[in-house]
Amino acid sequence: MSLTECSHCITKIVFPDSGICPACGKSKFELPGKSREEILVEQEKDELERHISYYKRRGPQILISGILITTAAIALIILTIISGVFIIWWYGGVLAGAALIGKGYSQIRNARELQFMYDKKFRK
Ligand SMILES: [Zn+2]
Repeated sequence: MSLTECSHCITKIVFPDSGICPACGKSKFELPGKSREEILVEQEKDELERHISYYKRRGPQILISGILITTAAIALIILTIISGVFIIWWYGGVLAGAALIGKGYSQIRNARELQFMYDKKFRK
């Protein structure tokens, strides 16, 4: 048993007797229509696209939850101060919300940076 590189997906694998690549499901008896270089470039492009769409989706979601949590915690702090009780837990909510805002913002920035890289590399 030795590792062979699948010519369709460039993954090093052990081919089963059927000759079907367990990683991409294509047969080793069929030749790919593209060169190894083209496949590698395509894979890099796909991976970048996946990361960009992940950050684009998650960044705003995290940012919005951060804003909601912070707003709710501040509202609760104001309410408890008005009603004369002091509950320290809501301050933790402000910190947690602020941390989420920071995280969401950095993911939005990641998406932007990756998009810039992607455009420079793949959009001519
Ligand atoms: Zn394969």
